[in-house]
Amino acid sequence: MASPKYPLTVQDVAAALKNRYRDFNHYNLKNPLDELLFIICSTKTGEASYRSTFRSLKETFPTHYQIAEAPAEYIARPIVSGGLSNQKAKAIRDLLDVIVEEFGEPTLKPLRKMSNEDAEAFLLSLPGVGKKVARCVLMYSLGRQVFPVDTHCWRIARRLGWVRPTQKDKHCAPRDMDRLQSKIPPELRHSLHVNMISLGREICTPNAPRCDECPISGFCSRIGV
Ligand code: SF4
Repeated sequence: MASPKYPLTVQDVAAALKNRYRDFNHYNLKNPLDELLFIICSTKTGEASYRSTFRSLKETFPTHYQIAEAPAEYIARPIVSGGLSNQKAKAIRDLLDVIVEEFGEPTLKPLRKMSNEDAEAFLLSLPGVGKKVARCVLMYSLGRQVFPVDTHCWRIARRLGWVRPTQKDKHCAPRDMDRLQSKIPPELRHSLHVNMISLGREICTPNAPRCDECPISGFCSRIGV
């Protein structure tokens, strides 16, 4: 079988970003159900806010059994400061119902014994869970060598010329996530993901990238910005 072809610069970019950002993990969690709840709390709000609302959620419901039995309006209360609390609470309520139905208890630990493909397929079957979220849970909590494509990874990969969007509006479609993941060697996926987030927040911002301060400017073609 032919080896996959990766862009020549991927390893150099990964090394330069690791040297700058040291694989900072952005506070993600080792328990896969906590990670899923954490990601829901993070929707459309800033880092300080979602870290605080997730803490409140865990203080209100210290165990997964407690949150699994709570009505949505009770789940909404501790996360209200993060915004969209009713939608987030309903999302949590809905996916906990499916998880308990499937595994008999509120846990995602059975995923640890599944292949990447099976675990991703199960996560994608949960209400409101898309490919990016599924791969975050797989990568951060289950140690799988997948590449979640969030808004920062997508913007930077396009600017580097690693991938061209298939959508007219440059939105990252699920197949674009697969195409980009296939261009990154498995052993570099975690490091590149976390460090691209750091770069995207600090320097390669959406509207005014500070290219003169960028540690990977020498590799950047700025194609399809
Ligand atoms: S050189 Fe500029 S556009 Fe390219 S990755 Fe760096 S900040 Fe982004």
